[in-house]
Amino acid sequence: MTVLVPSMGEFGGRLLAASLRHVGVQAVALPPPAEVELALGRGEVSCKECLPLVLTVGSMLRYVREQWDGNGILIDFMPETSGPCRFGQYNVMMREVAARQGLRNVTTISLTSENGYAGFGAKFALRAWLAVVISDVMDDIRSAMMVLAADLPAATLIFETQLVRMERSVETDSLLKLRRVLHAAARELAGIRRKSELKDAPKVALVGEIYVRRDGFSRQHLVERLSLEGVFVRTAPVAEWIHYCDYIVQKRLVAKSAPMDRLRGRLSGWVKDPFETAIQGIFAETGLFIPHDTRVERMVQAASGLVSPRLTGETVLTIGATLTELVESVDGVLAIGPFGCMPARISEAILVKKLEKHKLVVAGDRNLVRKVMKSHPALPFLSIETDGNVFPQLVESRLEAFLMQVRRVHRTLRSIR
Ligand code: SF4
Repeated sequence: MTVLVPSMGEFGGRLLAASLRHVGVQAVALPPPAEVELALGRGEVSCKECLPLVLTVGSMLRYVREQWDGNGILIDFMPETSGPCRFGQYNVMMREVAARQGLRNVTTISLTSENGYAGFGAKFALRAWLAVVISDVMDDIRSAMMVLAADLPAATLIFETQLVRMERSVETDSLLKLRRVLHAAARELAGIRRKSELKDAPKVALVGEIYVRRDGFSRQHLVERLSLEGVFVRTAPVAEWIHYCDYIVQKRLVAKSAPMDRLRGRLSGWVKDPFETAIQGIFAETGLFIPHDTRVERMVQAASGLVSPRLTGETVLTIGATLTELVESVDGVLAIGPFGCMPARISEAILVKKLEKHKLVVAGDRNLVRKVMKSHPALPFLSIETDGNVFPQLVESRLEAFLMQVRRVHRTLRSIR
C-alpha cells in the first residue's frame, strides 16, 4: 500500500510524507501542482468546485498516469472537516473520480479536523506536528531569503541542502537527533550573506484559505513576485489551522465534540506547544524568521465583534489575523481564496467594510494605530480570488496600488518607531 500525500505548500507534503514513513507507512509526497494538474483535474469536475479540489484530483491522476505501475493499493491522503463549506466532500469526490476512471485499487484516507486529525496514533501525531511547524518556518525563511540574500542562487543551495537533511531526519532520527539537525540547519541558514536586515523590509501577511495561500501555483507566485519588489511575505502558518481545530473541539464549536477528543486535545496541546516554541526559537536565531503568534483565542476574540465564533472555519481566522497583525506586525495584509470560496468571500465582505473602524477597537497598540491611520485612513488590505489562471488586469492594478500603500505605511511606521 502506498499513501499519496498531496502537496501542502512546497515543503509541507514532503515533510508529512516523511512523518508517515517514520511510522512505517510507505508514503509519497506529490509535487506541487501546476498547469498539467489543473487541466487533468478540470477534465474530471464540473469546474464549479473549489480550486484545491481540482488541483488535488489532478495531482492524484497525474501520479496514477505517469508514475504508478498499477500494482498494490494507492491511498490518497485527504483531510476533511465539517462546517459551512465543501471541504468535507473532497474525499467523497476523490473516490468518485477513482471509480469513474476504473481505478479499483485507488481509495482515500481521511482524518477529520473535528478531533484534531487524530487517528494515526500518538507517534505519528507528534512527527506530523513537527513536520507542519518545520515546513511553516522554512516557508517563511525562503520568503525572507528571496528578499534579503546577497547571492540568491548560493542561498538557495544552502536552503535546499538543509531541507533535504531535515526531511531525512524527520523520517529516520530520534527526537534528540532531529533537534541537533535543526540546530545545525539554523546555523547554516544564519550564515547566508544578506544585503539588508529583515526588520528593515516592508512586510505583508498572506492570509486566507489554507491550501491556496501555501501553494505557489494557486497564489500565482505572489510571494516570489513581491520579493522582487523587496517585500517580505509572511504566510499564515498551517499550525495556526491545527491550533484552531483543537480550539473548536475544546470550545465545543464542532458538531460532535466527544469528551475523549477534548481530553486528547488538551493533552496533545501540552506536548505540541513546547515543540513549536522550541523550533520557532531555533530558527529565529537565523535572522530570517520572525516567530508567529499562533494563539487562536486572541484571533477569535479580535474577530468576535464582526463574526460569531460559531461560524467555524477560515472566515474567523482571516478576519482575526488581519485585525491582530496589521500595523503592529505587518505593513499590509493580502487575503487569498479560491474563486467562489464562501469563507473567503464572507471575510472579504466584512473586512472591506469594517476593517479600519474595528481595528481601532481591538488594536494591541491603539496609539500606534491611531498615528498610522492619521496619514493612512484606509489601511493596506487586499482580497484576491484565484482560479488557477493568471490574475486579470484589474487584480494586477489593485495589487500595484496595494504595494504602494504598503510602502507608505512602512515608511510611516519607521518614522514613528
Ligand atoms: S474553504 Fe473555500 S475552497 Fe476550501 S472547501 Fe471551503 S469553500 Fe472550498
